Amino acid sequence: MGGCIFCRIAAGELGTEILHRGEGWVAFRDLNPQAPSHFLIVPEKHIPTINELTAIDDQLVGEMIRGAAEIAASEGVAADGYRLVFNCNAGAGQSVWHVHLHLLGGRPFGWPPG
Ligand code: 5GP
Ligand code: ZN
Repeated sequence: MGGCIFCRIAAGELGTEILHRGEGWVAFRDLNPQAPSHFLIVPEKHIPTINELTAIDDQLVGEMIRGAAEIAASEGVAADGYRLVFNCNAGAGQSVWHVHLHLLGGRPFGWPPG
């Protein structure tokens, strides 16, 4: 997917610093952070939204979530609490059409989310 920005970041083409990496995924800081720790956990494989996941992706998604928990621990936000978010489609605020898991930590979060 030549034009996809997260495909390009995952491939190392845009110079974005890849801070964590796992089996089939990479993690980097969000350009416009909404919390002191705001990472994006992104599959190397192009998947537009959560709606396009299939059973083949089950292990990948599990590893992304477990990877996010490890990043939260390494950032020192795991004990106080953090939030993991997949926005799916425009109504939920998705703006990049390549699946990504937001890890937000380092401040309190309200519920319900906006
Ligand atoms: P969404 O709104 O799709 O759930 O989240 C997309 C996120 O990607 C946003 O939080 C936005 O700040 C971030 N983002 C968009 N383009 C780039 C980029 O080129 N580099 C990085 N590091 N983050 C980006
Ligand atoms: Zn992509």
